[in-house]
Amino acid sequence: MAAAIIDGKAIAQGLRARVAEAVSAFVDATGRAPGLAVVLVGEDPASQVYVRAKGKATEAAGMASFEHRLPDDISQAALIALVARLNDDEAVDGILVQLPLPAGIDDKAVIAAIDPAKDVDGFHIANAGRLAVGEEGLVPCTPLGCLMLIRDRLGDLAGLEAVVLGRSNIVGKPMAQLLLQENCTVTIAHSRTRDLAEIVRRADILVAAVGRPEMVKGDWLKPGVTVIDVGINRVGGRLVGDVDFESAREVAGAITPVPGGVGPMTIAVLLRNTLVAAHARAGLPSPEGL
Ligand code: NDP
Repeated sequence: MAAAIIDGKAIAQGLRARVAEAVSAFVDATGRAPGLAVVLVGEDPASQVYVRAKGKATEAAGMASFEHRLPDDISQAALIALVARLNDDEAVDGILVQLPLPAGIDDKAVIAAIDPAKDVDGFHIANAGRLAVGEEGLVPCTPLGCLMLIRDRLGDLAGLEAVVLGRSNIVGKPMAQLLLQENCTVTIAHSRTRDLAEIVRRADILVAAVGRPEMVKGDWLKPGVTVIDVGINRVGGRLVGDVDFESAREVAGAITPVPGGVGPMTIAVLLRNTLVAAHARAGLPSPEGL
């Protein structure tokens, strides 16, 4: 039987609707809207599309959106000075610096300059550390969105075998931490892993975040596995994931499509994180059901 298709778009819409409701309660309680500042450096076409989408989604949720577009020859010091101003700006609850940054700017230094309380991407070392030790903090949007899709499908994850392909700080590592917190048995695989197909075959949950078009084939999978495909690869004029969708759907129990799977969740979780940051900054308890 062909796999169920995990409708990330619909699940993301549900989350965005719940965020919008909680935003209006926040406005009633505080007299102001949560605010998200997005900083875009340079003209990278994919980044421009993401930033526009984030701005539109922020406003659609009833939040204030502040966009800062900077030329690609801006100095690191000037970029960090802008981040410092946003840290001090009372109207700004979340700060997102769109990656990648132009050559010559050290993204680690820029991320380190963001107030961890406003770090809605969850990339600051303080938030990465909180996730690693199991304390509350801001969690990177893409892996948290993946976890929401997995839990929506499987409910309690305790004891399940999870395999995460990829170990980036943005997706793979935080994904593994989140699955570990859910009491999965977690394996992280990467470019130096031997016998990748063998390792993937033991997964009840597979998260692929590699950036290699259609690398994971259906015959690598255990029947019934839940497959979350984070990859976004442009092949010809088409977007494909890291999983070969056609062969995988013959074996998997459920699978995310590309596009329409993980991508929409990333933006919805960004809005959720901004709202969570706004509550914490206002001294309000975190909104429930998000
Ligand atoms: P990175 O390039 O930072 O990391 C890729 C990881 O995959 C690395 O850990 C690398 O291993 C591993 N890898 C590379 N080649 C192989 C291989 N042949 N076999 C096994 N592992 C391999 O990418 P990101 O984590 O930032 O992104 C991964 C994918 O997810 C990309 O396609 C990206 O576009 C997409 N993405 C999608 C998002 C969304 O919203 N849907 C958001 C963020 C990313 P090593 O560490 O050894 O080099």
